[in-house]
Amino acid sequence: MSGNKKINFSSGPAALPPEVLQEASEAIINYNNTGLSILELQHRGKYFEAINDESRALVKELCGLSDDYEVLWLQGGGRLQFAMIPMNFLGEQESAGFIDSGFWAHNAAEYAAYYGNAVTLSSSEKDNHTHLPKWPATVPHDLSYLHFTTNNTIYGTQFPNVPKTNVPLIADMSSDIFSRKMEYRNCAMLYAVAQKNIGAAGVTLVAVNKHLLGNVKRKLPPMLDYSAHAKARSLLNTAPVFGVYTSLLTLRWIKQKGIDTIETESIKKAEILYKEIDRNSLFDCKIGKDDRSKMNVCFGSRDKATDTAFTEYCSVRGITGIDGHRYVGSFRVSLYNAIPLSAVETMVSVMQEFEHEYLKAR
Ligand SMILES: *Cc1c(COP(=O)(O)O)cnc(C)c1O
Repeated sequence: MSGNKKINFSSGPAALPPEVLQEASEAIINYNNTGLSILELQHRGKYFEAINDESRALVKELCGLSDDYEVLWLQGGGRLQFAMIPMNFLGEQESAGFIDSGFWAHNAAEYAAYYGNAVTLSSSEKDNHTHLPKWPATVPHDLSYLHFTTNNTIYGTQFPNVPKTNVPLIADMSSDIFSRKMEYRNCAMLYAVAQKNIGAAGVTLVAVNKHLLGNVKRKLPPMLDYSAHAKARSLLNTAPVFGVYTSLLTLRWIKQKGIDTIETESIKKAEILYKEIDRNSLFDCKIGKDDRSKMNVCFGSRDKATDTAFTEYCSVRGITGIDGHRYVGSFRVSLYNAIPLSAVETMVSVMQEFEHEYLKAR
């Protein structure tokens, strides 16, 4: 790509592979030599049907999901899923379990409380989420489902795996889907907003086991009912055509690269960045080594002035999107799939140069 393309470590909307941006931008002018822009394609026409089918099949293939699962592209972001999940799966007198690893997980429980009982089984809140909450030793059998967030985007913690559970497990995988091999099949439902590891903001990926569907305990308009979306093959209303197409391009890119390779790179990227944070006298990471996220690396510096100086130091070197979430502060460097190892190596040298100059100036 020409021009001054920045290294973008933003937490979301986040960096996409250059190949995806190139192809998506060409499709805006002329989609696959059809003489039509992707933005002009009818969602019920044959071109989009093919995009819709291929993208949904690729999700199943990459996650190793059987035909028991329905894959949907929905709108309304993560927060609408926080509401739709209890609307569909939680009766008013029933309980759902939550593992509170941070802001998003907490939010999912708050939304569920509008529709039934939201029971927090484990939480890391009292330590400001600087470690993972313990996985509950026992999960009550009468829960309608158990909800957890695989990767904590804001505080920078990540569960090592997707455990098997005795009640349907529902996972918010917004910030680490396709970044590693996981037991995706252990989830009765998984979902992920596109703007982190999949594509453009505006679509949310849902994969739901059919066994969970068709059991809604309240009146719902079709637009809020997963089974209506499933029956319509995710074409209940006008699909977010460009968003789904961009996701398809990324899914093809992921498939070509392979999740194994992506995972190996991801481990390496996180390793060199944490190593530098731990070594560098100006920075520190409060998250315990075993709980650290390979996707969102959160760290602090000595003080506010150093924060500001480092942000500026990065900015003039073309590095952007490193500011921490407003609840946590300091820095968050997001290492999603599209971030190449070379970008992280650049970041590490910039941190070393900054330390050198900073200490020299004292
Ligand atoms: C970003 C994020 C969301 C956010 O969803 P919105 O689309 O902004 O509603 C939800 N869950 C997790 C884990 C996230 O990282």
